[in-house]
Amino acid sequence: MREEVDILVKNITALDPASDTILHGVDIAVKNNRIVKIGQRLKFDLVEEIDGGGKIAIPGLVDAHTHAFQILLRGALSMKELQVHPIWLRVLIPFEAELTREEAEISVELSCLNMIRKGITSFADAGGPYPEILAEAALRSGLRALVTHSTMDRGPENYTRTVQMNRDLIQRYRNGRVRGSYSIRQIMTSSDQQIEETFRYARTDGVRVHMHLNEEVSEIQHALARWGLRPVEYLYSKGFLGDNVLAAHCAFLTGEEIRQLSSSGTNIIHCPTIAMLYMNFPRIPELIAAGVNIALGSDGGSYRPIDLFMEMNIMISGLTGYYGTPYHDFNVITPRTALKAATYNGARVLGFKAGRLQEDYLADIAIIDVQKPHLTPLHDPYLLPLYATGEDITDLIVDGKIIMKNSQPLTLDQEKIIQMVKEIQPQILEKIKSITRRQY
Ligand SMILES: [Zn+2]
Repeated sequence: MREEVDILVKNITALDPASDTILHGVDIAVKNNRIVKIGQRLKFDLVEEIDGGGKIAIPGLVDAHTHAFQILLRGALSMKELQVHPIWLRVLIPFEAELTREEAEISVELSCLNMIRKGITSFADAGGPYPEILAEAALRSGLRALVTHSTMDRGPENYTRTVQMNRDLIQRYRNGRVRGSYSIRQIMTSSDQQIEETFRYARTDGVRVHMHLNEEVSEIQHALARWGLRPVEYLYSKGFLGDNVLAAHCAFLTGEEIRQLSSSGTNIIHCPTIAMLYMNFPRIPELIAAGVNIALGSDGGSYRPIDLFMEMNIMISGLTGYYGTPYHDFNVITPRTALKAATYNGARVLGFKAGRLQEDYLADIAIIDVQKPHLTPLHDPYLLPLYATGEDITDLIVDGKIIMKNSQPLTLDQEKIIQMVKEIQPQILEKIKSITRRQY
């Protein structure tokens, strides 16, 4: 009798960006939640087969910085309104705070559906009003996730979130596919005591801390006035930084801060679209050279689609435009480096043994149909990020379960979710208008 597996992906091209290998015409065998074998013409008794002919398998994409409670803002704010500073304090946080539980429920379902459709298998949410609602949606939809309360004790009155709230959340979601993390929304909205407690508990509990860091000039000015140090310098001087920290953006760094992030092992989440719109060209090439783990994030789906292929593309074009083109150097960020950031590096950030098409890794796999005009021919499959979009992903396996097949999500009801969003759309717009009337 032959050994039994749960899923066998047959005859596919497999990319493993972390090792820079391409395997043509291989089978990938999945049992329980792991990849158990990759090789040619594997023989197993199996439960489910996926035909990989004309397709490419990549490790599942990891959105290492998102905002699942902001997606209902889509299309509500003009580009001019988006420039009113600081948007996160004036509009985004009040919007999250005023979401009802029912609206939050719809928001997270829509976010999970968007992620699945674009080949995202794991995400780290930066924090919202109801992380337990997001955790349950991630569990139902089959996604892997880190969720958190967006901790702050200096923000708007109705948005205080304590470290204890995250302690309770982490207790509830500890070791599974969906886990709680600590967070600091931003240093400007947390007291010294809250920052200290967050990092202390994170260390004793062995849990991650998700935060926005060095994301805007006013934050740097704030830190210099408050501590006489820049944000990274302060956290480093206190011994808070480490490989359990997810630092989103880090768009304004000095050489000294790059050294501190590198020596502490801090993970950086680069969100290319938002960096180009709001910040600058973060010193990603220098950070990579310094050995910093760089993952990719969408920063949520409120301004742009949640599409890590688009983010990879903007990462390559933006950073090359700034750090390469003026020096006639077009090899600043390769498409493979971008793909590795969006897969393996992201899985490391979240703390899962995933992000690789290798035996014994968690079976998080995205399958792309390349039999399409815009992907033909594709001489070097590692150049995929230059041509593909998230929509090209047709099948998605997370934790050894198929959650999208032939472009049909299996765990969420797309029509129903879109209908629910339509029903609450007028009340959501009214809510946004009342917030912007107060702010502008
Ligand atoms: Zn963010």
